[in-house]
Amino acid sequence: MKRKLVIFAVVILLLTAAGCSGKTNSEQNGKIKVVTTYSILYDIVKHVGGEHIDLYSIVPVGKDPHEHDPLPKDVQKTADADIVFYNGLNLEAGNGWFNKLLETAEKSGDDAPVYKLSEGVKAKHLTSEGKETEEDPHAWLNIENGIQYAKNARDALIKQDPDHKADYEKNTQAYIEKLQKLHTEAVNRFKDIPKEHRILVTSEGAFKYFASAYGVDARYIWEINTENEGTPGQMKRIVDTVKKKKVPALFVETSVDPRSMESLSAETGVPIKGKVFTDSIGKPGEAGDSYYKMMEENLERIHKGLAK
Ligand SMILES: [Zn+2]
Repeated sequence: MKRKLVIFAVVILLLTAAGCSGKTNSEQNGKIKVVTTYSILYDIVKHVGGEHIDLYSIVPVGKDPHEHDPLPKDVQKTADADIVFYNGLNLEAGNGWFNKLLETAEKSGDDAPVYKLSEGVKAKHLTSEGKETEEDPHAWLNIENGIQYAKNARDALIKQDPDHKADYEKNTQAYIEKLQKLHTEAVNRFKDIPKEHRILVTSEGAFKYFASAYGVDARYIWEINTENEGTPGQMKRIVDTVKKKKVPALFVETSVDPRSMESLSAETGVPIKGKVFTDSIGKPGEAGDSYYKMMEENLERIHKGLAK
């Protein structure tokens, strides 16, 4: 309790210090301060903003953005930010951490510079009984949606920092061209695998957008990370599916507890053929350490795992 009070006092001091400096962030070092909620958005915004932004991401690489407990540093960075980017589509709404953070950091007003990067994306919904009205957040797993995120980031940065409009436009154009090429390749990527083998089983049902873009049938143990994970009912349903459909391979995400997938593998005798990236990019210097590379790895690993 004492420790909590101390942390709270430090946050208040930091907030006061930030508020009293009397200078905008860009006057301090020429860069605008940008906060993203998790690593995938961080990487997309980094490509768009380039050298003109100071970037901070809240949920660490490899961790689950659906549920998060903000640290004092997260509060301070958010309070101090010129722009905050979040995914939306029910992602950061999980345990309500993001809305609480915005309130604490005094960024919850209608005119606060807080932007939803999935704006304009056609949302898919959950399918579990009683959840059909809830949006599925994992839109970025269709690269075309990632392109939309980049455009939204560009527009917000230009609005906030019009002096560097030309650079933001140039950065975005180059980035979009690269992503578009990967998307176009991905559309045909699985066509050499018989349709009945194109079944992608993961722990969380994160691949709805990916599945419809790239022609695979996505199955899962639980539909979204905010649910109970690996309940007996969920396990029975997926064991039946894997057996009935003679699924050739299983996959496990880098940002979930692998134990449920390991028991599914043990129970069905179907091997886990690879790790896939869903809610986080890879650690710096490791495989999949950018949005582009995580998608490239996903396509490669899923193809290799499903191909006989
Ligand atoms: Zn997820």
